[in-house]
Amino acid sequence: MRLATLPRIPLANLPTPLEDLPRLSQELGGPRLFIKRDDETGLGFGGNKTRKLEYLLGDAVRQQADTIITGAGFHSNWCTQTACAARRLGMDVILVKQGPRDGYDPEDYDGNHLLHVLLGAGIRVVTTPSRGDAVMQEVADAVRARGRRPYVITSAGSTPVGVAGYVHAVLETLTQCHQQGVQFDYLVHATGSGGTQAGLILGAKAFNTGMKILGVSVSPSATQRDTIARLVTDAAQRFDIPLSLQQDDVTVIDDYVGGGYGVLSKPVVTAIHRVAKTEGIFLDPVYSGKAMAGLIDLIEHGYFRKKDNVLFLHTGGTVALFPYKDPIKAFLQGRSPSWSTPPWSPP
Ligand SMILES: *Cc1c(COP(=O)(O)O)cnc(C)c1O
Repeated sequence: MRLATLPRIPLANLPTPLEDLPRLSQELGGPRLFIKRDDETGLGFGGNKTRKLEYLLGDAVRQQADTIITGAGFHSNWCTQTACAARRLGMDVILVKQGPRDGYDPEDYDGNHLLHVLLGAGIRVVTTPSRGDAVMQEVADAVRARGRRPYVITSAGSTPVGVAGYVHAVLETLTQCHQQGVQFDYLVHATGSGGTQAGLILGAKAFNTGMKILGVSVSPSATQRDTIARLVTDAAQRFDIPLSLQQDDVTVIDDYVGGGYGVLSKPVVTAIHRVAKTEGIFLDPVYSGKAMAGLIDLIEHGYFRKKDNVLFLHTGGTVALFPYKDPIKAFLQGRSPSWSTPPWSPP
């Protein structure tokens, strides 16, 4: 199967803008910084998952599915985007989310959870992340028993089909580079389940861009590099892209994980505040804010040459600013927050 013949449903407003960050670049005094605004894909407040979903739901429609089943964290951007996409295609959607206790229903509806409720998604809350896949299969069996056609998407769409979205994004970026007369030495972004980075690496290799992809890890994982390398190889095989993956093609920087997935820290809040003040752009507390805190630290430690052009991929997630408002306020006021591990995290 070739990339161009994969079934694809248009869900994103493309191309997303590619913009200069002149004030931030000047303030940091390092390489010239640019930003690719995948927070502006449009679907459900935007984000990187829209690109994966164009191909994943293309596959679901081809299989005549009528119910999408997926899962992730309680305030998952992936769940929001998937549920929006499903609704736009007239499908049902069931989310298996991780929470602090079974059936967790917070007093305050905010951020992505509020959106999941508004979308009328079926919501199941489980406490053990490792049981998520099994519960999704149980839910799929129950849906099938009612004569419906479920389509299960595991690992936040980081499958070879989902990877296609960011192979395509590299092609889109190359066209913009050509139009704007710029070339990138590095692309920096937040990496979680790995599908985004796998697509970027495959695209950067396949189109011979010379652009190095730096994934800033948002959660502790000993297997992240291997997961991404395997996804790149599997996707290349599936799309008939000749590829020899070198050891240093997969770069995951895990120095900025901090307290763990979703745990807010002062450098992240400082990075979010800084980018908002200099460029009028909002980052999110779980992914893009952490990646930007990493990028700023790398610049301050002389990781890049001054003549480098560095592209920051904004992957979205900004609705999560709101459920994090209390610790954000505390950090901005120089106090310790009343919580840094979110109350909606699994035990
Ligand atoms: C999911 C997500 C990521 C990470 O993408 P993966 O493909 O899971 O690695 C980065 N940023 C935001 C805002 C996300 O929601």
